[in-house]
Amino acid sequence: MSLISSEYDVVVIGGGPAGSTTSTLLAQGGLNVGLFEREKFPRFHIGESLIPETYWVLKRLNMLEKMQRSHFVKKYSVQFINANGKLSAPFYFWDNKPHECSQTWQVVRSEFDQMMLDNAREHGVDAHDGVHVIEVLFDRAERGQGSSDGDGEADRAGRGQGIRATGVAIKQDGVRKEIRAKVVVDASGQAALLMNRMKLRLWDPVLNKGAIWTYWEGAYRDTGKNGGATMVIQTPGKDGWFWNIPLHDNIVSLGVVAPFDYLFKGRQGNHEQTYQEEVENTPAVKERVKNAKRVTGYFATRDYSYRSTQVAGNGWVLVGDAFGFLDPLYSSGVLLALKSGELAADAIIDGLARGDTGAAQLGAWGETFNHGVDRMRRLVCEYYDGFSFGNFVRNYPELRNTVTDLLIGDLFTDKVDKVWGPMESLYPDDKQRLPTWREGMVPEAAQHKANELTLPEGRTP
Ligand SMILES: Cc1cc2nc3c(=O)[nH]c(=O)nc-3n(C[C@H](O)[C@H](O)[C@H](O)COP(=O)(O)OP(=O)(O)OC[C@H]3O[C@@H](n4cnc5c(N)ncnc54)[C@H](O)[C@@H]3O)c2cc1C
Repeated sequence: MSLISSEYDVVVIGGGPAGSTTSTLLAQGGLNVGLFEREKFPRFHIGESLIPETYWVLKRLNMLEKMQRSHFVKKYSVQFINANGKLSAPFYFWDNKPHECSQTWQVVRSEFDQMMLDNAREHGVDAHDGVHVIEVLFDRAERGQGSSDGDGEADRAGRGQGIRATGVAIKQDGVRKEIRAKVVVDASGQAALLMNRMKLRLWDPVLNKGAIWTYWEGAYRDTGKNGGATMVIQTPGKDGWFWNIPLHDNIVSLGVVAPFDYLFKGRQGNHEQTYQEEVENTPAVKERVKNAKRVTGYFATRDYSYRSTQVAGNGWVLVGDAFGFLDPLYSSGVLLALKSGELAADAIIDGLARGDTGAAQLGAWGETFNHGVDRMRRLVCEYYDGFSFGNFVRNYPELRNTVTDLLIGDLFTDKVDKVWGPMESLYPDDKQRLPTWREGMVPEAAQHKANELTLPEGRTP
């Protein structure tokens, strides 16, 4: 067992982009940080397309130069193909913001996440992979206000009733060890350790999709500036869409996303058959892979759209997917992981400096963050409800840049809100009201939810 301290200022659970970001910034702020990642890195992960606003956090992390030196494909734009096979003009990020931040990357996550974790180590984070956090520890001294069972304790901590996170218990090579910390950051991704334990998860009442994907060698690639574009290709029946993400080494990540019932219920075959049927039915996709070789099996996931009712409690904070995940449509996941990591780290540094690690201080960023996620959620839901970028910019050419602002992830500012009125002016008469995420899913539907990831046979993360 590599040497693990029994006490840190902050313990971070998970070494994905959210965990690496939070821990690096905390270490930059002079704190003693321990990070525990259950998998041995490098490990597989989905989430390959970055969006431009990641630039600013990558800059703070001192990751920019590493990214610029990397072999990751450079991404300058996103482009849409509608159900009739009609191609929109590319949304070039540079046209919107002529700054180097407008070029971003398509990354192989096993490599990107390793780089981020190594970078955290270089900044002084005591990061250990292959170490499973089995539970978050809560202050027993402050107990006695109710029952002493673990769940009740965590429930009360979640609602900010005095109980405080004081560290974690880890397991490495079968040995359990308790580690103390002033603050625990949960960056455990969709495993969502604390959210599950405290029952804080609200399933999105609208977004109820699944995805099946695989990797192709030698698939069609655009050339020049368009060679790194993410393509969003709607299926002809408008039931779903494909992502087409060009990666290095001539590999393309190609996945189909559609409502859960459509993709997984009442289909005759396995994931492979469903995927192949969708490729067969979507000429713009079929054309792209006709000369390509599939180089992996099929991956599938479902029930991934949710948020926690809280970003923080006493002594604990949630970041990245451990707080919430929206939808893959506009590739906002890694940005939101980085952004929440950044906001959380700032709140923790400030809180520790003032001796305040209460829920209000650690979660002070939650409202702004949720508001930003709401903007992206609305854009996602509008697309699923028939919104056409092409039609919108034809009607409101002066708002092309503002829509592009949303697509690049510039979500945390009121200036983008001027698109909603014009968008509403194009609504059909029978358009339904969009429930907010806080309304959650009706309990009968929620009880069938089972956030799942299926890997190809024989494959481990
Ligand atoms: C189908 C699909 C497509 C997507 N496409 C994109 C895309 O193109 N672009 C994009 O930006 N995002 C995309 N995403 C989202 C993206 O994958 C996530 O938002 C992002 O990985 C979140 O980062 P994270 O650090 O929060 O979580 P993760 O990257 O999942 O990292 C969490 C880490 O915690 C570790 N962990 C879990 N439990 C424990 C434990 N108990 N102890 C220790 N370690 C633990 C895990 O092993 C993992 O390494 C997509 C998501 C889906 C579902």
